[in-house]
Amino acid sequence: MNARHARYPFFAAAREAVGQSDVALSELVTSDDPAVSRGLERVERALMAGTVESETPGEWTARDELLSYPVARILVSLIDAPAAVRKYAHAEAATAYDRFTEDFETSDDGLKSTGTTTVELDDFLTEFELTDDVRPEADAQAAATRRDDAYRVSLGSYLTLSDPDWGKRWRLVNREVADGEVRIIREELYELLREAVRRQVAEGLPFVVGDDAIAEALDAEVDSLRGLLADRKPVGRIDTVVPDLFPPCMKHLLERAGRGAELDHHSRFALTAFLTGIGMDTDEIVAVYRQSALDEEEIRYQTEYLRDEAGTQYAPPSCATMVAYGDCVNTDERCETITHPLAYYARALNDEGERGTNAAD
Ligand code: SF4
Repeated sequence: MNARHARYPFFAAAREAVGQSDVALSELVTSDDPAVSRGLERVERALMAGTVESETPGEWTARDELLSYPVARILVSLIDAPAAVRKYAHAEAATAYDRFTEDFETSDDGLKSTGTTTVELDDFLTEFELTDDVRPEADAQAAATRRDDAYRVSLGSYLTLSDPDWGKRWRLVNREVADGEVRIIREELYELLREAVRRQVAEGLPFVVGDDAIAEALDAEVDSLRGLLADRKPVGRIDTVVPDLFPPCMKHLLERAGRGAELDHHSRFALTAFLTGIGMDTDEIVAVYRQSALDEEEIRYQTEYLRDEAGTQYAPPSCATMVAYGDCVNTDERCETITHPLAYYARALNDEGERGTNAAD
């Protein structure tokens, strides 16, 4: 088991490492093993925050991290709800996307370590049997004159991995297709790989957990996760939009989106979930991102994803998570009194209301 297995636990090599270890999952879950706590956190974060990244990464070893993956799969299977599988697979894929894009870019800079922590694009293509289906654009001169470096992907893989619901630009009529290959830019290749991860994670879920001792040992965890799923109703929905009263972190993210800065996945998730949480609809949120480099169709897709069919939604990340991701900035006195950006905003609205009432007295 190594750090790379821990970062990409869905890779065949990582699964083999677990299989070859002397760890019996039945013994693991019936003990107080940290991998079980981390597995629980993995699923909690998937359901509540759209990521499986830990809020306390320093607490876990590579072993805990790797073994938490099969534990999480057992938990998701025991929850036995389509929404749990969907959101879990999506969160694993979103987290992997953040990690591999970072790894690939590091590799591009020639700074990649020779250790086993990071992956290269070729590793991913091999893992998903895409080596023969994806190639860099042949005409280097033509590629150099275009906006981004580009790849050609076989039509079959393109149609398998892309979804027209991702937006107009993904529809085949809007693509350059030649000799059975579709031209895509690097960022789009990364999106296809994210989808490949999502499918791989979702495959086989939920499965029947045949061992009653495992199900029994995880009873409390499964109950609490089912509760989270049921509770995901409009968390802190406020239905009043006063940008001046937004918490400093959200003002900062809004300002960055407004000047067209690229927001990381977690920052975009935090801002979009916050705006959804205070009652803004999809059109209003799309308007917020208008100046950003993000594709409108993509924003619509993500915003709709944040609300599921029942109209429930993801809660935006807590202050602790915002701190962990470096998104908590410019804190003020009110920040000392709350633990969640939505609570900040609710308190600010309340204080403003009280000020208005006092002024009228
Ligand atoms: S403390 Fe919370 S509300 Fe305040 S800036 Fe940080 S994340 Fe935002």
